Amino acid sequence: MRQVIIIGSGPAGFTAAIYAARANLNPVLVASSVEVGGELMKTTEVENFPGFPEGIQGPELMAKMQEQAERFGTEVLYDDVTGLELDGEIKKVTLGSGTTLEAASVIYATGSAYRTLGIPGEERLSGHGVSWCATCDGFFFRDRTIAVVGGGDSAMEEATFLTKFASKVYVIHRKDTLRASKIMQERAFANEKIEFIWNSAVEEVLGEDATIGVRLRNTVDGSVSDLDVDGLFIAIGNDPRTHLVHGKLDLTPEGTIWVDGRSSRTSQPGVFAAGDVIDPTYRQAVTAAGSGTVAALDVEHFLAALGDGSPSTAALV
Ligand code: NDP
Repeated sequence: MRQVIIIGSGPAGFTAAIYAARANLNPVLVASSVEVGGELMKTTEVENFPGFPEGIQGPELMAKMQEQAERFGTEVLYDDVTGLELDGEIKKVTLGSGTTLEAASVIYATGSAYRTLGIPGEERLSGHGVSWCATCDGFFFRDRTIAVVGGGDSAMEEATFLTKFASKVYVIHRKDTLRASKIMQERAFANEKIEFIWNSAVEEVLGEDATIGVRLRNTVDGSVSDLDVDGLFIAIGNDPRTHLVHGKLDLTPEGTIWVDGRSSRTSQPGVFAAGDVIDPTYRQAVTAAGSGTVAALDVEHFLAALGDGSPSTAALV
């Protein structure tokens, strides 16, 4: 039986693995069979991760994190988790291959997924003008015209932030009222660079290799029009990936996994959570990495406290 199984291969998962491996906990990390590296695999240049003054490509950063985790003995499995048994002293993690892993503890770091519009051009131009992260990509749009989709706090925050770089920011919203909090609305309304386009749905992102515009459909009269923009930021919410733990771990009203204060301890002893799956607010690579550190340290303390004689410590590797 293992000491710890880490689920998820984003910055939280790999950082937890680096710490756990260096603490001789021999972690096994389940990385997914299709997309190792999490959301950063979808970004191009990452310029805000400390230690890379020239910036680094998202996939390269994740490859380096994996290399660092493996260097200290993390075993990475390219498989998907299909089932979890988290109650009881022995945690069981079943994989797509049919194997069931057992461990005294689990770190759950499955991240969150940005909601997508599901429209033509969105996926093709992702990283080429289409982005889900103003903090990551806003800098590339200095003196350009961009659009933000959405009517919530994220959209207002992204739009306001983007005016630091862009010459003009359109906010495209499918209704004529915003869901965002009053203060965020007022800040956006007061910003001279922001123009609202109401009652409009983005139907298509235009451009071959780079974004050159968006096609809009008026949600009231159905009319279609094109708008020239150099970039499109999609801020329509995101969903923590919690489907495997519904009914097994407590969630917060925001849908993230509940943890005890600033720790990574979930409602189930021996189960720890880290990264975007517990964070409705910050959702940065570097905060996720910090959260992974917390989880690994919490696991270390948990295993140390189990003490001799416990069935789950008898056969730990
Ligand atoms: P929300 O769910 O609050 O808002 C999503 C917005 O996107 C809504 O306006 C919604 O439209 C729109 N939308 C959803 N799906 C589509 C679609 N397919 N096409 C077009 N528009 C769509 O998500 P947020 O990410 O904005 O916020 C999530 C949580 O995080 C909130 O609790 C928020 O308060 C919080 N937050 C707080 C911040 C802060 O305080 N600084 C910053 C960012 C987020 P409709 O209104 O029509 O449903």
